[in-house]
Amino acid sequence: MLIGVLGAGQLGMMLAQAGKTLGHSFRFLDPAPDSPASKCGEHIVAPYDDREALTRFARGLDLATWEFENVPCESVRRLADRIPVRPAVALLELAQDRLLEKRLFEEIGLRPAPHAPVSSRLDLEHAARSLGLPCILKTRRMGYDGKGQFVLRRDSDIDRSWNELGPHGELVLEGFVEFECEVSLIACRGLGSDPSPRDQSQPRGAEIVFYPMPVNVHRDGILRVSRVGEGAELEPELEREAHAAVSKLLDGFGYTGVLTVEFFVVRRGSNGRGLIANEIAPRVHNSGHWSIEGATASQFENHCRAITGTQLGSPSLKYPAAAMLNIVGEEPDPSLVRSIPGASIHMYGKQPRPGRKLGHITISGSRETVDEGVRRAGRLPGVG
Ligand code: AMP
Repeated sequence: MLIGVLGAGQLGMMLAQAGKTLGHSFRFLDPAPDSPASKCGEHIVAPYDDREALTRFARGLDLATWEFENVPCESVRRLADRIPVRPAVALLELAQDRLLEKRLFEEIGLRPAPHAPVSSRLDLEHAARSLGLPCILKTRRMGYDGKGQFVLRRDSDIDRSWNELGPHGELVLEGFVEFECEVSLIACRGLGSDPSPRDQSQPRGAEIVFYPMPVNVHRDGILRVSRVGEGAELEPELEREAHAAVSKLLDGFGYTGVLTVEFFVVRRGSNGRGLIANEIAPRVHNSGHWSIEGATASQFENHCRAITGTQLGSPSLKYPAAAMLNIVGEEPDPSLVRSIPGASIHMYGKQPRPGRKLGHITISGSRETVDEGVRRAGRLPGVG
């Protein structure tokens, strides 16, 4: 099949790398000419809302998907008038708004962080008083990797944060969650047997697979390290709770493809630990990159399988443990990475810039191999 992808970043690149092994070819739409996926198929360089470019992009495609969650929903709808677009746009629309996303979490039985909508300086003052400091002001829309966020620690930060984020439209203030760790659930739902994939509004009982939940470490709002398997196990009750809620979400939306939900793990007094839902990414996710070498079928392969209506592959670990370390801002010497047992390096072909994700390293093997690999890789420049 010829698959169109909105966005030609590294996620698009890895989707195409996996999809090509299943016999598919790819076309991308992305305004940046030197995008990582440019070499993986035809690349139409144009803004996402360029109607003429969308028409050219859609011509001859069997279906389209996205790799970037801030694509305009209007463009996705326009495409869906011409060709099947999977997943359907409904959940993308909700996930683009942090306030609607939190309401959705409550509907499916998950707890979001305490929060309040903020539309004015006065709202912010009231919300900060009721949630208490520290707290985090976030833009409702267009945020990623910690962008569009301000941590308020003292009263004077009310004005500073308002001056910085107030001009960016509607906001939400979140209480600061004292989490023990961060985890994510990467799930993939198949297409099912509905003969009309354009209408995904009805639940159809399609197959759902869940990857083992990685434990994720962020710095400056950017994911640095994810670990799964031995040495990073989560209580089975927490995993069951996340599976139940995310199944409800996927079935309720008739979702097709990979979806990720990020959580904080918090202590709940004497009742052990609990989950606070932070964010939905309706796409393949950075915390699932370990699955390329570490799982039987990677998140990228399963997304391609789902959207093309092919049976899903197993998400189970091929080794007792796996890890992923992001390469951010500067590049390590690849030969030093290759000398680490169990390690593979994936570079995205981007120019180095502070805070920019340039690639990642995966490490798979025994727990000891992964412990040692994470330690050694983490000492290299830009890694972890
Ligand atoms: P986000 O863009 O919401 O995923 O935020 C990026 C990172 O900032 C998260 O992965 C956390 O490490 C941190 N963070 C975001 N929201 C909160 C919160 N309410 N409490 C504590 N830390 C947070």
